[in-house]
Formats: sequence, structure tokens, C-alpha cells
Amino acid sequence: MNTILFGDRSRWDHAVQLVMSKHPEVVIIGLCDPLDEELATTSDAVITVDEVIHSYRSGQIDAVITVDGSIPEWNEYLHQNGVDRNFAIQTKYYRMSEEKLEKEERVFSPYGSIPPELQHLEFHLADHCNLKCKGCTHFSNLVKEPVFADMGQYKKDIRRLSELFDNIKEIHLMGGEPLLNPDVEEYIRITREIFPYAEIAIATNGLLIMTMKQSFFDTILETDTMISISDYTCLDEGKILTYLSQHGIRKCELRNGKQVFAKNLNPAADEDPGTIFAQCPRRVCTFLGKGSIAACVQPFVIHYFNEYFEQNFSEGGTISLYEDMDGHAILKKLSKPMEACRYCTYEESFSWNVSGDPVPMSDWCVEKA
Ligand code: SF4
Ligand code: SF4
Repeated sequence: MNTILFGDRSRWDHAVQLVMSKHPEVVIIGLCDPLDEELATTSDAVITVDEVIHSYRSGQIDAVITVDGSIPEWNEYLHQNGVDRNFAIQTKYYRMSEEKLEKEERVFSPYGSIPPELQHLEFHLADHCNLKCKGCTHFSNLVKEPVFADMGQYKKDIRRLSELFDNIKEIHLMGGEPLLNPDVEEYIRITREIFPYAEIAIATNGLLIMTMKQSFFDTILETDTMISISDYTCLDEGKILTYLSQHGIRKCELRNGKQVFAKNLNPAADEDPGTIFAQCPRRVCTFLGKGSIAACVQPFVIHYFNEYFEQNFSEGGTISLYEDMDGHAILKKLSKPMEACRYCTYEESFSWNVSGDPVPMSDWCVEKA
């Protein structure tokens, strides 16, 4: 079978190894990264999306293999253009030990024949925070009392997600400030148990890291979890990184770009939600909250804003995990604008700062001309 490997070029080397080791009948005759078409000018082995479609139609290739899991948009696009033999390499294979991989018969499957993958999932261990950032997009600076996640509900929901999705590529346990939750270690362990091949990160503002018990760092190491720290200007990042290194933590990152925040709420609700959603960077931050998911956190936490400012911005658009819907149908719904998007507009950026007291609504709302 002659094929093209299709998708993120950073996966190509590993994908070639996997395919060659498990599928000697497959001949890879080219590579294509649909998000970096310029690459096609640098090597004969790399081709554009149009060339992939032409190669299939003219019979030079028999199938396309997507290297980064089942990405519905790309598979739909290829399908609409007549490429109807599409396979996907499930991303769990990139993280599987050699011993486990040995037992697998195949590393790719026909698109649609297995539950899909979810690219990204966020979950709040705590809605409140020990830092009060101006215009916090999770509204944590408006949460007056501690609000922790419900462990029983999380266990039920994360198991349900494992029935609906073959894998979740990235799971961010966050908040608010997740390290405020006394059960943080248990949340990490459960997540790893249910999703053994996900890239799990604890996304923190870093302020509590140097107060954490040794058992926290043991959990991080044993579960292969990343510590992802927001690089706010108020942070002594050098000190924290040294501390983590002294505790044997190698898998940590400073999330850049946190010096600049953005506001995007629009009380007039007079924009086209489809247009706003299509350009919204947060539409891929799939969020889990109490038995439902949504394209972003907003419908789950806008009630804090509504309560503080006596507003009525929509909380609509969440998708129940317990309706009669499979993972493919959920992904389709997640790719469409939701009711809450009616209250958003184009983002306006501002420099990071702590919020004032009282907090003004203009910290989130864009003033339109
Ligand atoms: S640290 Fe993060 S969650 Fe906390 S207030 Fe700032 S932006 Fe919000
Ligand atoms: S509600 Fe919609 S438009 Fe607003 S931030 Fe979330 S995904 Fe973006």
C-alpha cells in the first residue's frame, strides 16, 4: 500500500518508525504538513495538500495516514476532495513503552473506526486563586470563598471521557490555583490511571510550589506529569526553577505570554458568534465541569461575573457527557459556536497586573467605538 504521512511534521520521524516496525506492507512515498506548506519547497519528499489529493486521484497513492490522531477537520477535507481511504495513527502509540507496543498488532486504524481523540482538556481543581489578576479569563479573582472540585464527580466524568475518546492528548489540571486543593495528588494519580498516554500538566501560578510536600513531587515524578508555570512578572522564576530541579523535577515549563492578558466580553452581544468563534484562540481549550464539556471555560464560570456585576451573560453551550452521543458527535458539537460566544468579541490586549478593588467590569469588557 503506497501512502503519504499527513500532519504535524514534528511527528514524522516517530511515525515513520512506528509504521515501518508494524506494517511492512506499507510504503511511505511522501510527507505533508498541512499547516506548513512552505516545507514542500524544501524537499522532493514533502508535498502540499493539493498534491496529496492529486496523488490519490491519479492512483499514485492508495491511502493517507494522519500522524497526529484523528483530526476531524482534515479528514473531512480530504474526504470531500475524494480521498476516502484515510487512516490515523493514534497518539497513544507515541507514548507507549516498547514492551506494550510489542503486543499491539497495528498502530493506525481507518478514520472513524475507533473512538476519536480529544486534543486538549482543562479542569479546575479550585475555582478560587491566591493571585488576583486583572481580567482573569477564568474569573477566579471574583470568587469570594474557596470552591474546590468534587472528587466523586471528577472520577465519574474522567472515566466517561475514557469511554468516549481513545485518548486525550493534553490534560491540564488547573484553576484558579490548583495547588490550593489539598487533594491535588489524588487528582493527578486518577488522571494518570484513566489516561495512561495523555500529557498531563498541572498549570499553576507557581506561588505555592516551594511550600508543597515531598509527596507532591513524588507524585509528579511517578505519574510523569509536567509542572507548567505561568510566567507572571511578579514571579521569581529563577528561584522556583532551581527549587524544582533540587527536587528532581525535569519536566517543567514557564508558560510565556503571561505578561499580556486580553479581554473579549461584549455586553451588547451584537457580533456574529460564528465569526467571533472562528477567530477565538480559546475555542480549543475544551473544559470539563460537572458532567459536561464545552469549547472553553466561559459557560462554566461566567456566573461569577454575573453575580459580581449583576449581569446575565449566557452560560449556555455546555455538552452533557451522558447524553446519547459518541465522541465523534461531541467533537462536531465542540467545533461549532455556542450560546456563550454571543457575548464575546475580538480580543483587546493589556499588560498583566493585579486587579483593583472594587473590580471594574471594564477589566473584561471591550469598549466599542
Ligand atoms: S493566577 Fe491565573 S487563575 Fe489566578 S487570578 Fe491569575 S489568571 Fe486567574
Ligand atoms: S465563549 Fe466562545 S468566543 Fe468566547 S472565549 Fe469561549 S470559545 Fe471564545
